[in-house]
This record gives sequence, C-alpha cells and structure tokens, in this order.
Amino acid sequence: MYEANQIVAATLQMLEERIEPGVSTWQLDQWAEKSCRKRQAIPAFKGYRGFPGSLCVSINEQVVHGIPSKKVKLRRGDIISIDFGVKYNGYYGDSAITIPVGDIKEDVRALLDATQESLYKAIAAIQVGNRVADISAAVQQHVEERGFSVVRQFVGHGIGKNLHEPPEVPNYVQGKGTTSPMLKAGMVLAVEPMINLGGHEVQILSDGWTVITRDKKVSAHFEHSIALTEQGPRVLSLRKNEKLPDYV
Ligand code: MG
Ligand code: MG
Repeated sequence: MYEANQIVAATLQMLEERIEPGVSTWQLDQWAEKSCRKRQAIPAFKGYRGFPGSLCVSINEQVVHGIPSKKVKLRRGDIISIDFGVKYNGYYGDSAITIPVGDIKEDVRALLDATQESLYKAIAAIQVGNRVADISAAVQQHVEERGFSVVRQFVGHGIGKNLHEPPEVPNYVQGKGTTSPMLKAGMVLAVEPMINLGGHEVQILSDGWTVITRDKKVSAHFEHSIALTEQGPRVLSLRKNEKLPDYV
C-alpha cells in the first residue's frame, strides 16, 4: 500500500509543480495518467462508476469529483483540488491536495491552510484505542474554530484491496461519537477533509459528478492514506516536498 500511495504522491507533486495559468484540467489528467502507467499502476478513478477521468479536478466553488476538460483552463487566483488514486499490485492508494494558481485572496489562503492543518490534526488522532469519531472531531474542531464549515455528504473511508472500504470516516462528529468504530493497528484509512469557506451545503451539477457549494463560495480538499501501526500513524501518501508538523 505504501508503494501504491507513493505513486499517487509522486504524481500529485509533479502536478503541483506544473500548475500555472493557462493549463487545462485535461492536460493535468493526461500527465497524471502517464505518470501512473509508466510506474505500472492503474488509475483507480477512471471508469469507477463511469467516471471519465484519471483525476478529479475541482476548481474554486467545486468541492470534489470535477471532471477534467480541455475547455477548463486554470486562471490566476483560482484554487484547484486534485484527487488521485491508483491500483498497484492489487492495492489502492488515494490522496488529494488543493493548490493555489498564483496569488490568492487572504481568506482563501486561510481556508487552504486550515484544511491541511485539520488533516494533520486528524492524522495525530489515528492512534490505537481511539475511535473514528476522534478523527472526525479533530477536523471539525480545527476548521469550525476558524469560521469554516465541514461538508457532510462526503466522507473519508477505509482503503486496501478496494478503493472504498469500511469504516466511513466523516469529518464531523455524529451524535456523541461514542459508538463509532475503534481504531486498531493494521487499519488503513483515507482521511479527507472537504472544507468550505461559507456554508456546509453542497449540490451536484447536471453532469452527475461535480459537487459544488450551494453558496458558490470556495472549498478546499486534502487527503492522505494513513496506516495505523502499533507505533502510531504512518502517512503512506506523504509527498517528498511535504513536511509533517511535529505533533503528528
Ligand atoms: Mg481521493
Ligand atoms: Mg478518498
């Protein structure tokens, strides 16, 4: 699973380095598929329930599941969430990042930072003896304190020989959280906060895939696949250019 996730990580880092105004989301998808195939991996999203791309590319008010297109070109001041998954040697990897295109507004920068930090807080909560709700609470508390809101309709998940496995990993606490699954060594979870600048409500566009915020304010998405070991969490999809904070 580490190998699968490192293919995802290397691909996301390559895309991050190539993000600039004028690049189409179709071009990003082509680069991702090439990066994946040259490493003998299979793009996990392509054909998944009929999804047409290798990447999910979601710009600005798009939350997740945006479809790559030649017609959509990045503009200065945009943010783009790129979600990528592969299958390699029978196992899946899954990770996502949100990247600014040039300079972005201060409140949007704060949203990106808070969303990524909430993922790190969540990772720190992946400990033997904790529950899934501890992960959810870590995300929710971090972003709500800063005035942002947590998307409810889409959640993180277990991952392994399938892209999506139990348990579901919500980014908000349901009820008191005391009945959520216990975390055990050997579990691998894809934790993926989807955080909105405005309200938490989302809707799906008529293409049947693209999820957007109802108030059209921007949304950010970061995801890692994390193995829980006896020694604590291990971030399988860590990128070479990414440094985890000390508390993880
Ligand atoms: Mg993903
Ligand atoms: Mg996922």
